[in-house]
Order: sequence, then C-alpha cells, then structure tokens
Amino acid sequence: MFRKFQWIGSSLLAVVALITTASLGNISSIAQNRDGTKIVATILPVYMFTKGVTGETGEVEILVPAGTDPHEYQATPENARTIAEADVLVKNGLGLEEFLEKLVDATGNSQLQEIDASQNIKPIEEDKDEHHDHDHDHDHDHSHEEGNPHVWLDPVLAQQQVKNIRDGLIKANPNNATTYQTNANIYLQKLQQLDQEFQTRLAPFKGCKFIAFHDAYPYLAKRYNLQQTAVVELPQDNITPRDIQRVINATKEYQVKGLLAEIGFNDSRMQQIAKDIGLPIKKLDPIESGLLDPEHYFTAMKNNLKTLEEICQ
Ligand SMILES: [Zn+2]
Repeated sequence: MFRKFQWIGSSLLAVVALITTASLGNISSIAQNRDGTKIVATILPVYMFTKGVTGETGEVEILVPAGTDPHEYQATPENARTIAEADVLVKNGLGLEEFLEKLVDATGNSQLQEIDASQNIKPIEEDKDEHHDHDHDHDHDHSHEEGNPHVWLDPVLAQQQVKNIRDGLIKANPNNATTYQTNANIYLQKLQQLDQEFQTRLAPFKGCKFIAFHDAYPYLAKRYNLQQTAVVELPQDNITPRDIQRVINATKEYQVKGLLAEIGFNDSRMQQIAKDIGLPIKKLDPIESGLLDPEHYFTAMKNNLKTLEEICQ
C-alpha cells in the first residue's frame, strides 16, 4: 500500500517536472529565436523581395492590398493597427508610399525598424514631357517629388533592393542571418539570370521606342537600351476625344513601334485607340498588383520581356 502510493507520488512529480521544463523551454526559445518578429511590407514588389529573403522563417504582411493602386493609396485604421504591432517595416521608398510617414508617426511605434529598399539607388527624374498630364486630370498625375519610384522593374536595381532588404532584416533579426543570406543569394542569382535573359533577347531591338500610359518603365528602358519616349497618362474611365488626340500626337511625334498599356486598363477602349492609330498595343505589367508569391516577380517579368520583343520587332 505504502509502496504503491510512493510510486504514484514520484510519477506525479515527474509529470510536473516535465511540464515545467517544457514551458521554460518554450519561453526561452521564443526569446532567443525572435520568431515573433513581425515584418510588414508596403507594396507588392517589396513584399515579394522580403518574402524571398525571409523564406520559411516567418510571415510577411502586406500593407497595400494586391489590386489597389499604390500611387493613390489611402491608409486604413487596420493599417495603423498593423504598423503599431510591427517590428520591421519594409518600404519601396523614393516617395512612392505617400501615405506612410503620417501613418507611422500616428502609431507612435518607437521600436519600429524601417527598411528603405531603394537606399543608395540613384533615381531617374520623372517624365516631365509635354504629353505628361499636368494640365488635366490631376487625380492621375502620379508625379513623385523624390524621382521615379519604379526601380523594381529593372532586374539589376531589383538586386540592390533585395540586398538592402536582406541587410536591414539581418540588422533587425541577427538570429536569422544565415537563413536570410542563403535565401537572398538564391533570389539574387535568379535576378541575375533574368537580367541576362533580358540583355540577350532585347539586344536586337536597341533604341526601340514605345509610348506608355504610366511612367513606370524608365529604369527598364534605360537598362536595355529601349526608349520610353512619352508617357500619356489617361483617366481609368471616361477617356475623352482630347485624350485620344494626345495619344495620336505622341505617336506621330515620336514614331513609336507600339503602345504599351497597363494590365487592368480599360481594354476595349485602348484596343479601339490602337486600331484608330494603326499601331499594335500590348500589355506591360508594372507589377503593382498580382500574386503574393516571391516567384510571381519572375513570371511577370518574363511576360514583360515577351511583350517587349513583340512590340519592338
Ligand atoms: Zn506606378
């Protein structure tokens, strides 16, 4: 009787000891690995690059939902809550996220570490061409004071962005340094391959001129010796005869090979304009919306490469 009791007593003790060890272990591993680090990225390209670097180490939240125009984004109360709880904030920079500074200030998160993905990238000035839409429809005038923000569309500058993000993440969370390095190297290698492919396949089309409807491609054009000769910004709907006339004027003045419309643009209207002018129209993707997947960047850019080949030949 006594012996049995003793046995029960010691096994209970053992169970208690196990529970204590397990909970202590959990607490210390969270503190050490800092797996609780909350990372937020503003827009799709920096989300993809950040997720490419973090890999399986943790989730990355996106602030501007896919399918929303980042140039005219208005922050929501939910965004404020997300930033208030975040440890790391990754932004594209170059003034693209106009809503961000006020939002961050308002949350009063003094622990927040900001990573500017465009750090040390020399911006190209925005198109100040006469066809740029300054006198008309200010809602769609996407000009940014700090230069053109669309650096991610150049696979070489995208590498710089990935490196900036990698270095910022390592600083914020040194325990994951090895994983961040390894993942970044894989992603950077893919970007190098993409650059090679662009170089090789666009080499025959040096000087090819195109008109865009969104000033998103000057970095891409400069890198591969193409010319985004004019940007004609159009309203998303209610394109007027005057708008069409501006497109016609630009095509005549610059003798372009074709028009590059935006994914998501008013399709039938753009097709009609192209038909009236007698020029091909193709779609180029500024990758401002799309799948929340680091691989999506490569898919979209390869489609863009194909589009550029088709329009330039
Ligand atoms: Zn844009």
